Amino acid sequence: MKTFPMFLTMTGRRVIIAGGGEQAAQKARLMLKTEAHVTLLAPSLAPELTALIASNRAGHHAGPITPETFRDTALVFIATGCPAADLALHTLAKLGGALVNTVDQPALCDALTPSIVDRDPVVVAIGTEGTAPVLARQIKTAVETMLEPRLGEFAALAGRMREAVAHQITPRARRAFWAWVFSDTPRRLHAAGREQDAALALKSALSTGITLAASQGCISLVGAGPGARDLLTLRAVQRLQEADVIFYDRLVDPQVLELARRDATRIFVGKEVGANSWPQDRINGVIVAAARKGQRVVRLKSGDPGIFGRAEEELEAARRAGIPIEIVPGITAAIAAAASLGRALTERGQTDHLVFATGTCCTEADRPDWAAMLTPGATLAVYMAVGRLAELRANLLAAGHAADMEVEIVSKASQPGERRLKTTLVRMEADAVANAIFSPAILILRRAKAQPDANGQFRKDRLTVTAESWKSELRCD
Ligand code: SAH
Repeated sequence: MKTFPMFLTMTGRRVIIAGGGEQAAQKARLMLKTEAHVTLLAPSLAPELTALIASNRAGHHAGPITPETFRDTALVFIATGCPAADLALHTLAKLGGALVNTVDQPALCDALTPSIVDRDPVVVAIGTEGTAPVLARQIKTAVETMLEPRLGEFAALAGRMREAVAHQITPRARRAFWAWVFSDTPRRLHAAGREQDAALALKSALSTGITLAASQGCISLVGAGPGARDLLTLRAVQRLQEADVIFYDRLVDPQVLELARRDATRIFVGKEVGANSWPQDRINGVIVAAARKGQRVVRLKSGDPGIFGRAEEELEAARRAGIPIEIVPGITAAIAAAASLGRALTERGQTDHLVFATGTCCTEADRPDWAAMLTPGATLAVYMAVGRLAELRANLLAAGHAADMEVEIVSKASQPGERRLKTTLVRMEADAVANAIFSPAILILRRAKAQPDANGQFRKDRLTVTAESWKSELRCD
């Protein structure tokens, strides 16, 4: 090791940042996370730095600089952006006896700044001795994903209880107690946003000496997103890593399941052609039963659990059984499809509402009236629609929509076999077949807002083709 990682005590210590531009501002942002007194050294400062001085978050030294300037300073950052000025300041700072970091100049550094994962007071520092900054950032991303956002608060809570634990728990039992705190019920409750329950579990374990083993199971309805695993939320990854058992659907990508703990049980509860399907009440039954056994259950659903995902039935079953249940939102297919098209779902001046509709309802008789949804100013995203293109077209044409209205279709959005198609209402079925567009796919249709005419009057929105005219025009039956 050419460098050695240490955590410097910063409370009340002086840090000098030499420079007044963006580089200096970056270091100032970093140092202001600590309890150090920051002094900025520069004749003129960027507005962000001036604001720090105005709000008393940093001091300013604009006068002459001598080695004395750097006496009693814990750390000096030199970040002027000018190599000659950096070198001169480095010489003076070293004469003043300071520990120096000169931005982007390893030869002028006594200390290198690591990549940091900040869950204060838990801090992870990653260094590569300057060999691979990109690798350091990748490691940082991986660690960021592993550690729940509230971990710092939880560690602080544990820290506040250390003394009580030392009093009440024998030294022999202490290690097991802390292992329980950080890997079992208290941390799990805290990570799920139930801070008070976590504190109660800790306090009651302290007073009774009984550490509740994962006494109560719970269920997370987790959105797996459209497929690509980097479209998962950090919270979804967290839940997958905590889960004892994962019940997943047909549309959940195997890449996503790989993020689960190696020893978690994975149970497929989707419907696959030719295989036994899982009726919804059976799914409700198994997730509740697993949670009753004290397991951490993840019910992984494609996209967002609350969009055409039958989440309501599972929420209801868990609540009836008194099992804690939460929803972890996910990126729904319509949003992923728009991203794949490189197009926003709403356009300024054109769109004032966004409709997520289904192409397939519970019963045949229950067919949605898509034309009624596609009012002026609408973007209509239709799920589960590829098998219903003929009906959709007939419905829209019969309501007078233009045969050449643009239709965009994205299948397998964000997945390796993704396909995108721009077509028209009348051609969409033939084009979908020709372009091998199969389920899962999303259809996106748009209807611009009515525009005012030259007199500033809004015309009544007129559809261009009538039901009769499209039939003759297209020779469809
Ligand atoms: N809860 C899911 C929707 C489940 S319904 C969500 O929020 O996305 C299943 C339908 O979702 C599919 O028929 C298809 O219309 C759509 N879908 C799911 N994943 C998709 C993907 N990767 N690309 C395109 N459509 C997808």
